Amino acid sequence: MAGLLEGHVAAVTGGGSGIGQGICQAYAREGARVIVLDSNPAGAEETVGLVTAAGGRASSMRLDVTDRQACKAVAAEIARGGNISILVNNAGINRRNPITGDPIAVAKDWDDILSINLDGMFNVTHAFLDQLRATKGRVVNIGSIQSFVHVSWPNSAAYTTSKHGVLGFTRALAAELGKDGVRVNAIGPGMIETKINAEARAKNPDMVANVMRHTPLNRPGKPEDIAGPAVFLASDMSAYVTGCIVMADGGFRTV
Ligand code: NAP
Repeated sequence: MAGLLEGHVAAVTGGGSGIGQGICQAYAREGARVIVLDSNPAGAEETVGLVTAAGGRASSMRLDVTDRQACKAVAAEIARGGNISILVNNAGINRRNPITGDPIAVAKDWDDILSINLDGMFNVTHAFLDQLRATKGRVVNIGSIQSFVHVSWPNSAAYTTSKHGVLGFTRALAAELGKDGVRVNAIGPGMIETKINAEARAKNPDMVANVMRHTPLNRPGKPEDIAGPAVFLASDMSAYVTGCIVMADGGFRTV
């Protein structure tokens, strides 16, 4: 039986770890050729190794999504081998420091988080725009429960702002690119066990317990929990879905 993404070429930012790595593996299993884009070449190569060991097709390129010129250069190089038809804007960071803290550190957190999580999403999407329009492509942006709320995860004004921005960008782009046949959606993960929150989970068991009290499925998520919605949003199964955010949060937002 053919995979759901047969014939597609997918670029996944931050594909060298956690949620992005899980999405790369799932896309390859469904028949897509995967291009792992990450600022961490070792992580990207690990993903390529996992995909190819499972019989899939993957390659990697180093990309810092904050570097607008590099995004354009990478998109141009990829186009020489064929246009992408799926873009996953997944690269992201988080730091949890109170906004009332050291002003220099607070400003650096703001700049770093917004430049990766939000400007980076623009840089990459803009660089691949012609390819996505040519292939009637699909964009999947990784938002968060913090695209809506700021509870249970204190001290993250910059991150919350960036993830609200992801949702706004998703809706605006869906409205603008629908006429070109390009669909743009987001996924809102709840607490997923990855490197991004490993230290926070280890140091603050109370915070984890607090999130779980608010999570009907009563467990943290794994990258595989995000891969299914990511396949759905990239495939023809979601042909009439655009401008949406699919929450994959164990029910967090329902209670
Ligand atoms: P992760 O395991 O830390 O993976 C993030 C990946 O992005 C890493 O490989 C990281 O490289 C890379 N990256 C960081 N800055 C980059 C840049 N400037 N350019 C290119 N790549 C960059 O974290 P994750 O949990 O999988 O996060 C993936 C996405 O899911 C993020 O957007 C995050 O906000 C979102 N999300 C996560 C959760 C969660 O609970 N885990 C919940 C909601 C949303 P390094 O190895 O060098 O750091």
